[in-house]
Amino acid sequence: MEEALRATVRRFVDQELQPHINDWEEAGVFPRALYRQAGDLGLLALGFPEAEGGIPASYRNLQALNEELCRTGCGGLLASLFSHRIGAPPIVHGGSAELRARVLPEIFAGDKISALAVTEPGGGSDVANLATTAVRDGDHYIVNGSKTFITSGMRADWLTVAVRTGGAGAGGVSALLVPGDAPGLARSPLKKMGWWCSDTAELHFAQCRVPAANLLGAENAGFALLMRNFNDERLMLAMHACYLAQACLDEAGEWARQRKTFGKALVQHQAVRHKLVEMATRVEATRAFIDSVVARMDAGEAPVAQVCMLKNFAAQTMQVCADHAVQILGGMGFMRGTVAERVYRDVKVYMIGGGAEEILNDLAARQLGWS
Ligand SMILES: Cc1cc2nc3c(=O)[nH]c(=O)nc-3n(C[C@H](O)[C@H](O)[C@H](O)COP(=O)(O)OP(=O)(O)OC[C@H]3O[C@@H](n4cnc5c(N)ncnc54)[C@H](O)[C@@H]3O)c2cc1C
Repeated sequence: MEEALRATVRRFVDQELQPHINDWEEAGVFPRALYRQAGDLGLLALGFPEAEGGIPASYRNLQALNEELCRTGCGGLLASLFSHRIGAPPIVHGGSAELRARVLPEIFAGDKISALAVTEPGGGSDVANLATTAVRDGDHYIVNGSKTFITSGMRADWLTVAVRTGGAGAGGVSALLVPGDAPGLARSPLKKMGWWCSDTAELHFAQCRVPAANLLGAENAGFALLMRNFNDERLMLAMHACYLAQACLDEAGEWARQRKTFGKALVQHQAVRHKLVEMATRVEATRAFIDSVVARMDAGEAPVAQVCMLKNFAAQTMQVCADHAVQILGGMGFMRGTVAERVYRDVKVYMIGGGAEEILNDLAARQLGWS
Protein backbone atom coordinates (compact mmCIF):
# COMPACT_ATOMS: atom_id res chain seq x y z
CA MET A 1 0.00 0.00 0.00
CA GLU A 2 2.79 2.40 0.92
CA GLU A 3 4.35 2.58 -2.56
CA ALA A 4 0.97 2.99 -4.28
CA LEU A 5 0.04 5.70 -1.79
CA ARG A 6 3.33 7.51 -2.34
CA ALA A 7 2.86 7.41 -6.12
CA THR A 8 -0.69 8.80 -5.83
CA VAL A 9 0.36 11.62 -3.51
CA ARG A 10 3.41 12.43 -5.62
CA ARG A 11 1.21 12.87 -8.71
CA PHE A 12 -1.26 15.00 -6.70
CA VAL A 13 1.57 17.19 -5.41
CA ASP A 14 3.26 17.59 -8.79
CA GLN A 15 0.13 18.19 -10.85
CA GLU A 16 -2.41 19.83 -8.54
CA LEU A 17 -0.47 21.54 -5.77
CA GLN A 18 3.07 22.52 -6.71
CA PRO A 19 2.18 24.75 -9.70
CA HIS A 20 -0.20 26.86 -7.57
CA ILE A 21 1.39 27.07 -4.12
CA ASN A 22 2.90 30.52 -4.52
CA ASP A 23 -0.35 31.99 -5.88
CA TRP A 24 -2.35 30.48 -3.01
CA GLU A 25 0.13 31.73 -0.45
CA GLU A 26 -0.01 35.25 -1.89
CA ALA A 27 -3.82 35.12 -2.05
CA GLY A 28 -4.00 33.85 1.55
CA VAL A 29 -6.35 31.04 0.52
CA PHE A 30 -6.51 27.87 -1.59
CA PRO A 31 -9.57 26.65 -3.52
CA ARG A 32 -12.18 24.78 -1.54
CA ALA A 33 -12.36 22.29 -4.44
CA LEU A 34 -9.02 20.90 -3.25
CA TYR A 35 -10.74 19.10 -0.36
CA ARG A 36 -12.85 17.18 -2.86
CA GLN A 37 -9.80 16.35 -4.97
CA ALA A 38 -7.94 15.04 -1.91
CA GLY A 39 -11.13 13.22 -0.84
CA ASP A 40 -11.51 11.54 -4.22
CA LEU A 41 -7.97 10.17 -3.90
CA GLY A 42 -8.83 8.79 -0.46
CA LEU A 43 -6.24 10.98 1.27
CA LEU A 44 -8.65 12.49 3.80
CA ALA A 45 -10.06 9.09 4.81
CA LEU A 46 -6.73 7.47 5.72
CA GLY A 47 -6.58 6.09 9.24
CA PHE A 48 -10.30 6.53 9.98
CA PRO A 49 -12.84 3.68 10.52
CA GLU A 50 -14.18 2.01 7.39
CA ALA A 51 -17.73 2.01 8.79
CA GLU A 52 -17.84 5.80 8.43
CA GLY A 53 -16.13 6.05 5.06
CA GLY A 54 -12.57 5.85 6.33
CA ILE A 55 -9.69 3.77 4.96
CA PRO A 56 -7.59 1.73 7.40
CA ALA A 57 -4.01 2.98 7.51
CA SER A 58 -1.00 2.55 9.76
CA TYR A 59 1.06 5.41 11.16
CA ARG A 60 3.72 4.27 8.70
CA ASN A 61 1.23 4.95 5.87
CA LEU A 62 0.46 8.40 7.29
CA GLN A 63 4.20 9.02 7.49
CA ALA A 64 4.49 8.29 3.74
CA LEU A 65 1.53 10.59 3.06
CA ASN A 66 3.07 13.45 5.02
CA GLU A 67 6.53 12.98 3.56
CA GLU A 68 5.20 13.29 0.03
CA LEU A 69 2.91 16.23 0.86
CA CYS A 70 5.77 18.16 2.43
CA ARG A 71 7.54 18.26 -0.92
CA THR A 72 5.25 21.27 -1.48
CA GLY A 73 7.25 23.10 1.19
CA CYS A 74 3.91 24.57 2.29
CA GLY A 75 2.83 23.73 5.83
CA GLY A 76 -0.11 26.15 5.72
CA LEU A 77 -1.76 24.21 2.93
CA LEU A 78 -1.41 20.96 4.85
CA ALA A 79 -2.72 22.49 8.09
CA SER A 80 -6.05 23.54 6.59
CA LEU A 81 -6.50 20.76 4.04
CA PHE A 82 -6.04 18.19 6.82
CA SER A 83 -7.65 20.09 9.73
CA HIS A 84 -10.12 17.20 10.03
CA ARG A 85 -7.25 15.13 11.42
CA ILE A 86 -7.81 17.06 14.67
CA GLY A 87 -11.48 17.94 14.20
CA ALA A 88 -12.84 14.48 13.33
CA PRO A 89 -11.36 12.07 15.94
CA PRO A 90 -13.59 13.35 18.79
CA ILE A 91 -16.58 12.75 16.51
CA VAL A 92 -15.31 9.22 15.75
CA HIS A 93 -14.75 8.42 19.43
CA GLY A 94 -17.61 10.39 21.01
CA GLY A 95 -20.38 10.97 18.46
CA SER A 96 -23.66 9.02 18.46
CA ALA A 97 -24.11 6.44 15.67
CA GLU A 98 -26.54 8.81 13.94
CA LEU A 99 -24.13 11.76 14.12
CA ARG A 100 -21.15 9.71 12.93
CA ALA A 101 -23.09 8.35 9.96
CA ARG A 102 -24.39 11.81 9.01
CA VAL A 103 -21.21 13.82 9.43
CA LEU A 104 -18.08 11.73 8.91
CA PRO A 105 -18.48 10.33 5.35
CA GLU A 106 -18.89 13.86 3.97
CA ILE A 107 -15.77 15.04 5.79
CA PHE A 108 -13.66 12.13 4.51
CA ALA A 109 -15.00 12.68 0.97
CA GLY A 110 -13.90 16.32 1.10
CA ASP A 111 -17.46 17.64 0.78
CA LYS A 112 -17.47 19.14 4.27
CA ILE A 113 -14.66 20.76 6.28
CA SER A 114 -13.94 19.90 9.91
CA ALA A 115 -12.02 21.98 12.47
CA LEU A 116 -11.10 21.75 16.15
CA ALA A 117 -11.69 24.76 18.41
CA VAL A 118 -10.03 24.55 21.82
CA THR A 119 -7.82 27.67 22.17
CA GLU A 120 -9.40 30.84 23.56
CA PRO A 121 -8.31 34.49 23.57
CA GLY A 122 -7.72 34.07 27.33
CA GLY A 123 -5.26 31.18 26.81
CA GLY A 124 -4.45 28.00 24.92
CA SER A 125 -1.93 26.03 26.97
CA ASP A 126 -4.12 25.76 30.05
CA VAL A 127 -6.92 23.81 28.36
CA ALA A 128 -8.52 22.67 31.62
CA ASN A 129 -9.37 26.29 32.46
CA LEU A 130 -11.21 27.20 29.26
CA ALA A 131 -14.06 29.70 29.68
CA THR A 132 -16.52 29.16 26.81
CA THR A 133 -19.76 27.90 28.34
CA ALA A 134 -22.51 25.60 27.09
CA VAL A 135 -25.69 25.54 29.14
CA ARG A 136 -28.40 22.97 28.52
CA ASP A 137 -31.77 24.42 27.44
CA GLY A 138 -34.21 21.65 26.53
CA ASP A 139 -32.97 19.89 23.40
CA HIS A 140 -30.19 22.41 22.89
CA TYR A 141 -27.03 23.81 24.44
CA ILE A 142 -26.61 27.59 24.51
CA VAL A 143 -22.96 28.42 23.85
CA ASN A 144 -21.29 31.70 24.85
CA GLY A 145 -17.63 32.68 24.53
CA SER A 146 -14.80 32.89 21.98
CA LYS A 147 -12.17 30.67 20.39
CA THR A 148 -9.10 31.91 18.56
CA PHE A 149 -6.34 30.84 16.16
CA ILE A 150 -8.68 28.15 14.79
CA THR A 151 -7.38 26.40 11.66
CA SER A 152 -10.13 26.13 9.00
CA GLY A 153 -12.16 28.36 11.31
CA MET A 154 -13.69 30.48 8.54
CA ARG A 155 -14.64 27.65 6.20
CA ALA A 156 -15.42 24.75 8.53
CA ASP A 157 -18.85 23.17 8.19
CA TRP A 158 -18.35 21.32 11.47
CA LEU A 159 -16.53 22.75 14.48
CA THR A 160 -15.52 20.39 17.29
CA VAL A 161 -15.63 22.86 20.18
CA ALA A 162 -14.34 22.48 23.73
CA VAL A 163 -16.87 24.00 26.13
CA ARG A 164 -17.47 24.24 29.85
CA THR A 165 -20.65 22.44 30.88
CA GLY A 166 -19.71 21.83 34.49
CA GLY A 167 -17.60 23.24 37.30
CA ALA A 168 -13.99 24.44 37.25
CA GLY A 169 -11.12 22.39 35.83
CA ALA A 170 -10.84 19.44 33.45
CA GLY A 171 -13.88 17.70 34.97
CA GLY A 172 -16.22 20.44 33.71
CA VAL A 173 -15.19 20.29 30.05
CA SER A 174 -17.29 18.80 27.24
CA ALA A 175 -16.87 18.50 23.48
CA LEU A 176 -19.69 19.76 21.30
CA LEU A 177 -20.05 19.52 17.53
CA VAL A 178 -21.20 22.94 16.33
CA PRO A 179 -22.56 23.28 12.77
CA GLY A 180 -20.93 26.09 10.80
CA ASP A 181 -24.34 27.70 10.26
CA ALA A 182 -25.46 27.54 13.92
CA PRO A 183 -27.42 30.67 14.90
CA GLY A 184 -25.29 32.91 17.13
CA LEU A 185 -21.92 31.87 15.64
CA ALA A 186 -19.82 34.62 14.04
CA ARG A 187 -16.29 34.28 12.64
CA SER A 188 -13.51 36.70 11.76
CA PRO A 189 -10.30 35.93 9.82
CA LEU A 190 -6.83 36.42 11.35
CA LYS A 191 -3.65 37.56 9.58
CA LYS A 192 -0.49 35.62 10.35
CA MET A 193 3.33 35.64 10.21
CA GLY A 194 3.29 32.42 8.19
CA TRP A 195 0.96 29.64 7.01
CA TRP A 196 -0.54 32.31 4.74
CA CYS A 197 -2.85 30.11 2.68
CA SER A 198 -4.16 28.42 5.81
CA ASP A 199 -7.56 29.65 6.99
CA THR A 200 -7.22 30.86 10.60
CA ALA A 201 -10.11 32.45 12.48
CA GLU A 202 -11.53 33.76 15.69
CA LEU A 203 -14.96 32.35 16.57
CA HIS A 204 -17.58 34.22 18.58
CA PHE A 205 -20.48 32.42 20.20
CA ALA A 206 -23.36 34.64 21.40
CA GLN A 207 -26.35 32.66 22.65
CA CYS A 208 -25.41 30.12 19.98
CA ARG A 209 -27.93 27.26 19.85
CA VAL A 210 -26.54 23.78 19.23
CA PRO A 211 -28.60 20.54 19.31
CA ALA A 212 -27.90 18.59 22.51
CA ALA A 213 -27.57 15.48 20.33
CA ASN A 214 -24.30 16.99 19.05
CA LEU A 215 -22.56 16.38 22.38
CA LEU A 216 -19.47 14.22 21.84
CA GLY A 217 -19.01 11.71 24.65
CA ALA A 218 -20.67 12.18 28.00
CA GLU A 219 -21.27 15.60 29.53
CA ASN A 220 -18.17 16.78 31.46
CA ALA A 221 -16.10 13.94 29.98
CA GLY A 222 -14.78 15.92 27.02
CA PHE A 223 -11.30 16.58 28.36
CA ALA A 224 -10.14 12.99 27.89
CA LEU A 225 -11.66 12.97 24.41
CA LEU A 226 -9.67 16.06 23.46
CA MET A 227 -6.46 14.79 25.09
CA ARG A 228 -6.74 11.63 22.99
CA ASN A 229 -6.21 13.83 19.94
CA PHE A 230 -2.99 15.36 21.08
CA ASN A 231 -0.56 12.49 20.55
CA ASP A 232 -1.59 12.06 16.92
CA GLU A 233 -1.64 15.82 16.27
CA ARG A 234 1.85 16.22 17.68
CA LEU A 235 3.22 13.29 15.71
CA MET A 236 1.76 14.74 12.48
CA LEU A 237 3.25 18.16 13.26
CA ALA A 238 6.63 16.53 13.94
CA MET A 239 6.47 14.75 10.58
CA HIS A 240 5.61 18.01 8.84
CA ALA A 241 8.46 19.85 10.57
CA CYS A 242 10.99 17.16 9.63
CA TYR A 243 9.91 16.81 6.01
CA LEU A 244 9.68 20.59 5.54
CA ALA A 245 13.27 20.72 6.83
CA GLN A 246 14.08 18.18 4.14
CA ALA A 247 12.46 20.47 1.54
CA CYS A 248 14.77 23.28 2.72
CA LEU A 249 17.77 20.96 2.43
CA ASP A 250 16.75 19.89 -1.08
CA GLU A 251 16.35 23.48 -2.26
CA ALA A 252 19.58 24.68 -0.62
CA GLY A 253 21.57 21.68 -1.89
CA GLU A 254 20.41 22.25 -5.45
CA TRP A 255 21.10 26.00 -5.22
CA ALA A 256 24.58 25.38 -3.83
CA ARG A 257 25.41 23.10 -6.76
CA GLN A 258 24.24 25.61 -9.39
CA ARG A 259 25.30 28.95 -7.93
CA LYS A 260 28.88 30.06 -8.52
CA THR A 261 30.90 32.62 -6.56
CA PHE A 262 34.63 33.32 -6.84
CA GLY A 263 34.87 30.92 -9.77
CA LYS A 264 33.40 27.85 -8.13
CA ALA A 265 30.07 26.41 -7.05
CA LEU A 266 28.86 27.27 -3.55
CA VAL A 267 29.19 23.62 -2.49
CA GLN A 268 32.90 23.89 -3.13
CA HIS A 269 33.18 26.47 -0.36
CA GLN A 270 33.72 24.58 2.86
CA ALA A 271 31.58 26.90 5.00
CA VAL A 272 28.59 26.27 2.71
CA ARG A 273 28.88 22.50 2.46
CA HIS A 274 29.31 22.25 6.22
CA LYS A 275 25.94 23.96 6.60
CA LEU A 276 24.43 21.39 4.25
CA VAL A 277 25.96 18.56 6.27
CA GLU A 278 24.60 20.02 9.50
CA MET A 279 21.14 20.21 7.95
CA ALA A 280 21.41 16.63 6.66
CA THR A 281 22.57 15.41 10.07
CA ARG A 282 19.62 16.98 11.87
CA VAL A 283 17.11 15.73 9.29
CA GLU A 284 18.57 12.22 9.45
CA ALA A 285 18.39 12.16 13.26
CA THR A 286 14.80 13.45 13.25
CA ARG A 287 13.79 10.87 10.63
CA ALA A 288 15.21 8.09 12.81
CA PHE A 289 13.31 9.44 15.84
CA ILE A 290 10.08 9.54 13.78
CA ASP A 291 10.67 5.96 12.58
CA SER A 292 11.07 4.78 16.15
CA VAL A 293 7.92 6.54 17.43
CA VAL A 294 5.90 5.40 14.40
CA ALA A 295 6.97 1.77 14.96
CA ARG A 296 5.88 1.99 18.61
CA MET A 297 2.54 3.59 17.75
CA ASP A 298 1.88 0.99 15.04
CA ALA A 299 2.57 -1.65 17.71
CA GLY A 300 -0.25 -0.16 19.80
CA GLU A 301 1.82 1.88 22.26
CA ALA A 302 1.15 5.53 23.12
CA PRO A 303 4.64 6.89 23.89
CA VAL A 304 3.51 10.30 25.14
CA ALA A 305 6.91 11.53 26.36
CA GLN A 306 8.63 10.50 23.13
CA VAL A 307 5.97 12.23 21.01
CA CYS A 308 6.43 15.46 23.01
CA MET A 309 10.22 15.29 22.69
CA LEU A 310 9.98 14.41 19.01
CA LYS A 311 7.71 17.35 18.21
CA ASN A 312 10.09 19.77 19.93
CA PHE A 313 13.15 18.17 18.32
CA ALA A 314 11.59 18.21 14.83
CA ALA A 315 10.59 21.87 15.16
CA GLN A 316 14.17 22.74 16.10
CA THR A 317 15.43 20.77 13.10
CA MET A 318 13.06 22.76 10.92
CA GLN A 319 14.22 26.05 12.42
CA VAL A 320 17.93 25.35 11.87
CA CYS A 321 17.34 24.04 8.35
CA ALA A 322 15.17 27.02 7.36
CA ASP A 323 17.80 29.40 8.73
CA HIS A 324 20.69 27.70 6.90
CA ALA A 325 18.66 27.41 3.69
CA VAL A 326 17.90 31.15 3.63
CA GLN A 327 21.58 31.86 4.28
CA ILE A 328 22.76 29.55 1.48
CA LEU A 329 20.27 31.07 -0.97
CA GLY A 330 21.55 34.53 -0.02
CA GLY A 331 19.32 37.38 -1.23
CA MET A 332 17.15 34.86 -3.06
CA GLY A 333 16.34 33.22 0.26
CA PHE A 334 14.78 36.50 1.37
CA MET A 335 12.56 36.62 -1.71
CA ARG A 336 8.97 35.42 -1.68
CA GLY A 337 8.41 32.21 -3.59
CA THR A 338 11.37 30.17 -2.37
CA VAL A 339 10.80 27.22 -0.06
CA ALA A 340 13.44 28.58 2.31
CA GLU A 341 11.65 31.92 2.72
CA ARG A 342 8.27 30.26 3.31
CA VAL A 343 9.50 27.66 5.78
CA TYR A 344 11.52 30.33 7.64
CA ARG A 345 8.37 32.36 8.36
CA ASP A 346 6.27 29.23 9.04
CA VAL A 347 8.58 27.62 11.59
CA LYS A 348 7.41 29.32 14.79
CA VAL A 349 3.94 27.80 14.62
CA TYR A 350 5.51 24.34 14.94
CA MET A 351 7.01 25.49 18.26
CA ILE A 352 3.68 26.86 19.51
CA GLY A 353 0.71 25.01 17.94
CA GLY A 354 -0.45 21.61 19.20
CA GLY A 355 1.23 22.29 22.55
CA ALA A 356 4.01 24.85 22.94
CA GLU A 357 7.58 23.72 23.50
CA GLU A 358 7.58 24.53 27.23
CA ILE A 359 4.28 22.72 27.83
CA LEU A 360 5.50 19.61 25.99
CA ASN A 361 8.78 19.58 27.90
CA ASP A 362 6.79 19.72 31.15
CA LEU A 363 4.51 16.90 30.00
CA ALA A 364 7.49 14.77 28.95
CA ALA A 365 9.14 15.42 32.32
CA ARG A 366 6.00 14.28 34.17
CA GLN A 367 5.74 11.17 31.99
CA LEU A 368 9.38 10.32 32.67
CA GLY A 369 8.90 10.76 36.40
CA TRP A 370 10.84 13.99 36.80
CA SER A 371 8.30 16.06 38.65
C1 LIG B 1 -1.45 29.31 13.12
C2 LIG B 1 -2.05 28.68 14.33
C3 LIG B 1 -3.04 27.71 14.17
C4 LIG B 1 -3.66 27.16 15.29
N1 LIG B 1 -4.69 26.27 15.12
C5 LIG B 1 -5.43 25.88 16.19
C6 LIG B 1 -6.60 25.08 16.04
O1 LIG B 1 -6.95 24.66 14.93
N2 LIG B 1 -7.33 24.79 17.14
C7 LIG B 1 -6.99 25.22 18.38
O2 LIG B 1 -7.70 24.95 19.33
N3 LIG B 1 -5.86 25.96 18.57
C8 LIG B 1 -5.09 26.30 17.50
N4 LIG B 1 -3.96 27.06 17.68
C9 LIG B 1 -3.62 27.51 19.02
C10 LIG B 1 -2.39 26.84 19.65
O3 LIG B 1 -2.67 25.52 19.98
C11 LIG B 1 -2.01 27.72 20.84
O4 LIG B 1 -1.48 28.92 20.32
C12 LIG B 1 -1.03 27.05 21.78
O5 LIG B 1 -1.62 25.97 22.44
C13 LIG B 1 -0.49 28.04 22.82
O6 LIG B 1 -1.53 28.71 23.45
P1 LIG B 1 -1.50 30.32 23.54
O7 LIG B 1 -1.19 30.85 22.19
O8 LIG B 1 -2.75 30.77 24.18
O9 LIG B 1 -0.27 30.64 24.46
P2 LIG B 1 -0.27 30.72 26.07
O10 LIG B 1 -0.91 29.51 26.62
O11 LIG B 1 -0.76 32.05 26.49
O12 LIG B 1 1.31 30.64 26.34
C14 LIG B 1 2.17 31.69 25.93
C15 LIG B 1 3.61 31.23 26.10
O13 LIG B 1 3.85 30.95 27.47
C16 LIG B 1 4.34 29.64 27.62
N5 LIG B 1 3.78 29.05 28.82
C17 LIG B 1 2.48 28.96 29.17
N6 LIG B 1 2.35 28.30 30.33
C18 LIG B 1 3.60 27.95 30.72
C19 LIG B 1 4.14 27.25 31.82
N7 LIG B 1 3.34 26.70 32.76
N8 LIG B 1 5.49 27.10 31.90
C20 LIG B 1 6.30 27.60 30.96
N9 LIG B 1 5.85 28.28 29.88
C21 LIG B 1 4.52 28.45 29.76
C22 LIG B 1 3.85 28.88 26.41
O14 LIG B 1 4.66 27.75 26.16
C23 LIG B 1 3.95 29.95 25.34
O15 LIG B 1 5.28 29.97 24.87
C24 LIG B 1 -3.27 27.56 16.58
C25 LIG B 1 -2.24 28.50 16.74
C26 LIG B 1 -1.64 29.06 15.64
C27 LIG B 1 -0.56 30.08 15.85
